[in-house]
Amino acid sequence: MTIKPARGIRFPVTVPVLVIGAGACGLTAALAARDAGAEVLVLERDRVPRGSTALSSGFIPAAATRFQRDKGIEDSPALLTADIMAKNKGRSSPTVTARVAERAGPTLEWFADRHGVPFEVIEGFLYPGHSVLRMHATPRRTGADLMGYLLAAAETAGILTMTSAHVVALFADEDGRVAGIEVARPDGAIETIGCAALVLACNGYGGDPALVRRYIPEMADSLYFGHAGNQGDALRWGETLRAGLRDLGAYQGHGSVAHPHGILITWALMMEGGFQVNAEGRRFSNEQRGYSEQAVDVLRQTGGTAIEVFDARLDALGQDFEDYRNAVAAGAIRRADSIAELASLFGLPAPALAATLAETQAMAAGARGDPFGRDFTKKPALAPPFYGVRVTGALFHTQGGLEIDTDARVLGRDGRKLPNLLAGGEASRGLSGPERDGYFSGGGLLAAVTLGRIAGETAARLAESP
Ligand SMILES: Cc1cc2nc3c(=O)[nH]c(=O)nc-3n(C[C@H](O)[C@H](O)[C@H](O)COP(=O)(O)OP(=O)(O)OC[C@H]3O[C@@H](n4cnc5c(N)ncnc54)[C@H](O)[C@@H]3O)c2cc1C
Repeated sequence: MTIKPARGIRFPVTVPVLVIGAGACGLTAALAARDAGAEVLVLERDRVPRGSTALSSGFIPAAATRFQRDKGIEDSPALLTADIMAKNKGRSSPTVTARVAERAGPTLEWFADRHGVPFEVIEGFLYPGHSVLRMHATPRRTGADLMGYLLAAAETAGILTMTSAHVVALFADEDGRVAGIEVARPDGAIETIGCAALVLACNGYGGDPALVRRYIPEMADSLYFGHAGNQGDALRWGETLRAGLRDLGAYQGHGSVAHPHGILITWALMMEGGFQVNAEGRRFSNEQRGYSEQAVDVLRQTGGTAIEVFDARLDALGQDFEDYRNAVAAGAIRRADSIAELASLFGLPAPALAATLAETQAMAAGARGDPFGRDFTKKPALAPPFYGVRVTGALFHTQGGLEIDTDARVLGRDGRKLPNLLAGGEASRGLSGPERDGYFSGGGLLAAVTLGRIAGETAARLAESP
């Protein structure tokens, strides 16, 4: 991943706006640039664009949308900003966070109204850190469904996407102005394309084990659940171009991936009354702080796994999610008439598991408090029959990246704007701040689509008048 000198290079073709990466961020940036009147070309290393977006659940938080109003939900960009900043302890960029929160709602409505991407609000439970119901999804509630809509919208808008196009180098001059890119094709051919503005939408470095080990050592040996092709290219280019790099130790993990099946189990089970125990049959954390930081807590338990305990009420809730139905079909979810039988199914000490269940029931009745600080009183206590699933912790995506301003322009280490380089999604600094527990539920796609839209608009403007 190199930067080559732009001096003397002639490109056979030049496009006003180039976008690297055809995930949610790149496709949104392309739609926005096209809407602003610019010609756009998207470059994607895979033969079929999928990215982490297609692997995701496809849930996007947004505030004050008409989808919320239709359900009588009151929300505001200010409340969304406050929730994000509360989760990251005030350590993301306040200006970029506020801009993202302000543009998220209009972006989902723009998708629906102008580009035929339908959204609805997910009801039934609140995600950790969300003050109100504000998670939105396309009808099938999967990232693959979202990607399908985005690709169809891009095609309808006449956006060209070059697939099997691995961008391996940027051409830039001394002051960091990018003149074009170099693409390696599967047959070994090398092609060059010039541009007036470049959007980096090629995600973070979760797919590069060496970078994960360097910046996130605690997750170095865990399962990486995101897209393998996201190998830190934006980070390396940015480093050479003397861009600011921030919060590289931050990431989205998940403490609820069915093991060994590798299927995401919805965190709704934990938010609505379920709990996790270790091999000793004991709880080990407040499950409701967030699914991201729970990844490390689960990995620290014996064997790097935990058992999620829930009941028929929560099994019914889980059935709303395609992943959960897949986990049932794969035999990951086990049912037992009694807690002793559940203990035996998972090889747990029955007296300890029964004692843990009794403690949570007492906490739900308000008879005692939780030493980990979770409030059990808001949800019904678990009742037989019981359900369980063995889970592990996984790395979903990295959150640190290139420092940007509120127009998604990449900033140099000295704080100056690079002339024509934009970034969004996981390529840019996320909304988590520097710590592992700062990830706000849905913050990945929130940053991908909102910063993608802003980056596309800015790129079109820069291409028009550099
Ligand atoms: C299992 C799972 C569940 C998740 N669920 C959610 C959720 O419900 N809500 C949420 O907000 N977030 C979720 N996330 C996170 C979310 O998937 C990401 O935040 C989001 O998809 C990032 O979008 P992106 O466009 O930046 O990256 P991607 O969708 O990964 O797209 C990047 C693209 O760039 C391409 N690329 C990389 N390098 C190059 C190169 N050099 N040349 C050409 N192409 C390149 C890649 O092939 C890829 O297609 C989840 C993640 C996982 C793994």
